[in-house]
Amino acid sequence: MAYTVPKLKSFTPAALDKAAEKLLASLKLEAAAVKNEADWKVFRDRWMARKNGVLTEINDLWLKAAPKEAKREVGQRVNELKAAVTATVEKARTGVTIAPAPAVAKVGAVRPSVSVEPAALDITLPGNRRPLGAEHPVIKTMHEIVSVFRNLGYSVEEGPVIETDYYNFEALNFPPNHPARDTQDTLFIARQESKPQRDRLLLRTHTSPVQIRTMEKMKPPVRIVIPGKVHRNDPPDASHSPMFHQVEGLAVDANITFCDLKGTLDHAMKALFGSSVKTSFRPSFFPFTEPSAEMMVSCFICGGSGKRGSEPCRPCKQTGWIEILGCGMVDPNVYGFVDYDPKKVSGFAFGMGADRIAILKYGVDDIQLFFNGDVRFLEQFG
Ligand SMILES: [Zn+2]
Repeated sequence: MAYTVPKLKSFTPAALDKAAEKLLASLKLEAAAVKNEADWKVFRDRWMARKNGVLTEINDLWLKAAPKEAKREVGQRVNELKAAVTATVEKARTGVTIAPAPAVAKVGAVRPSVSVEPAALDITLPGNRRPLGAEHPVIKTMHEIVSVFRNLGYSVEEGPVIETDYYNFEALNFPPNHPARDTQDTLFIARQESKPQRDRLLLRTHTSPVQIRTMEKMKPPVRIVIPGKVHRNDPPDASHSPMFHQVEGLAVDANITFCDLKGTLDHAMKALFGSSVKTSFRPSFFPFTEPSAEMMVSCFICGGSGKRGSEPCRPCKQTGWIEILGCGMVDPNVYGFVDYDPKKVSGFAFGMGADRIAILKYGVDDIQLFFNGDVRFLEQFG
């Protein structure tokens, strides 16, 4: 006669004891009768099914029906019974042979005679392999750039991604109406209209604020390299992303000249792209450097010829040159913000896009691939 959950007439501890005892005795009997996987499933469902299982029924017929003053006591008993049923059902499973894994059957592996229930442990099964991670290509490129400058004696500095207008623009000599201040380019944190402009928060548009923060806390000589994440309000496409990575550098000391800038960057490009690359500078404009320049390297993909076999070279647009970074001598106005004496010190700064360099190095044609998180793409760089 199969067990059915009775309605309780009394909720006294003695009555509860009696009811629990009956339930547990039936549980034990039914568990002992389980012989195979099909039996076990029936057994499990009879006791644990959400609908009409014994556990559901004791919840409804005992706990929910209990008078208010007995709820606490009954709740505790029901929880104990739940634990006992769950444990017994689990245990009953290890006693039955679950369908053997076909791989084992096929190769006819001899089961070692270990005194363990076969379903509990099959040492012939392969272990769980955890795939090894690898450095993301953009991070890897940043590390490579940083290590070139570390070898020249530069130290690494980092700063906040959420910056104030002061550090991102004002202290870097951006005049109030400079186009880069336009909200088209900058992502501002919302609801700050009540603050003075220089205190308003934004997502930094370049890593340059770290130059100011470092000069504020350090007297010359300064030689730093700054890797980091930056944001601009650019819609994503094959060559733009609202989030990207820069590596900047700054050197300030007595008697630093444009020749030092050229020599340092020429060395760095040869270290990064191979000793045969040439560098070339042309005038440019940045608010925080004067004079400013854009530096190009001879195309390390086509060797500067503009062609790959009979095909035109796309990365350099057949010119044989690739624009790689912006640079210049630190504008003397910037020193005024950090209490340096422009009559005594001079220096240079430079900055490059790590994502763009990774694109060139690895021949990737869409920047979005770096940030989609598709393992099939990323595992090629392991
Ligand atoms: Zn080329």
